[in-house]
Amino acid sequence: MPLPAECAVPATGPLAERRYPEPSHPYRLPYERDRARVLHARAFRRLAGKTQVFTNRYSDHFRSRLTHTMEVAQIARTIARTLGLNEDLTEALALVHDIGHPPFGHAGERALDDALREHGLRFDHNLHALRIVEHFEVRYAEFRGLNLTLAVREGIIKHSHDYTAAEYPELSQYFLDQFPPLEAQLIDLADEIAYTTADFDDGFESGILTLAPARAGVRLFERFYAPMLEKYPDTPEKLVFNEALKRMLNALVDDLIAETIRRVLSANATSLEAIRHAPARLVAFSPEMEDLRMEAKSFLYTHLYNAPELRREHEEPDRIIRMLFQAWVAHPERMPSPHPEEISEEGAPRVVADYIAGMTDQYILTQFETTIAQNG
Ligand code: MG
Repeated sequence: MPLPAECAVPATGPLAERRYPEPSHPYRLPYERDRARVLHARAFRRLAGKTQVFTNRYSDHFRSRLTHTMEVAQIARTIARTLGLNEDLTEALALVHDIGHPPFGHAGERALDDALREHGLRFDHNLHALRIVEHFEVRYAEFRGLNLTLAVREGIIKHSHDYTAAEYPELSQYFLDQFPPLEAQLIDLADEIAYTTADFDDGFESGILTLAPARAGVRLFERFYAPMLEKYPDTPEKLVFNEALKRMLNALVDDLIAETIRRVLSANATSLEAIRHAPARLVAFSPEMEDLRMEAKSFLYTHLYNAPELRREHEEPDRIIRMLFQAWVAHPERMPSPHPEEISEEGAPRVVADYIAGMTDQYILTQFETTIAQNG
């Protein structure tokens, strides 16, 4: 059952405005064009070379940040369609949601943030994503950036985060005292669903996760694994696992859809304005499912993300990013153009961080090899 049509962001209107006005397209709506602009961005293509959880020393068929992004888009689009929301906007937001991530997954993000803190700055992947689409993508003769609609830029900075106008006056155009539309809210949880289930999958594939602790420690997994094992007693373990995992994913999506409808209707938030001014974000899991999801997530932290087998995935990025960052802050002229020229405006630490954040895993390893390892 979809929500009332007024809950969706309309295909045209103030949120579909661009910073630099452009003529409308004869047959493509504004958010369709945004989706295409993200898809054609260089930063989007680089997601193929960025780690999600596993670097390619384990295998080359695990998720990269690009395939993770496509899985988020797939899940988000299903939710948007079922709720009757704006699918084009949802998909554009899903495709752009991780575009600000540095190389080496979360370990890289932490390392870059630590390096910047020493200069009184922070690394924030939402703000970096905004800088990418506003500044670093240079594709058009008439303006810098992708000139995305206001709705997409607002969604970028409100991904899993609420900034205050006092702290971030430069973001004041993005309705900081209001919640984002449902299309943006649902990206956060589609992201959670995608990576929680995918990390189980890749975790088992890698051999780091094993069945017995997952069955004992993750009720949401066992809820589906036990009946699947009974139904397919002679089937290879991995296929029984797959049958359980896809049902776990479906259960999360089903719950999210039902609970979101329940919250929207019970808050009587049946217009975009009411959604923005509701007491809380309205896209949510039921309390019971939230509990089960948190259990699955903390299992992944203990048994996968912090597993000794992945220690190298955390320690190497830290060392590589720290050393490259220090080397370039000390000698910015060693970075290729145009980065050294940007220092007068932004300061060396920010310019170096922006340069590093854009790199793929392979590119930063090559930079480390040529800049640090060979110069001793
Ligand atoms: Mg993500």
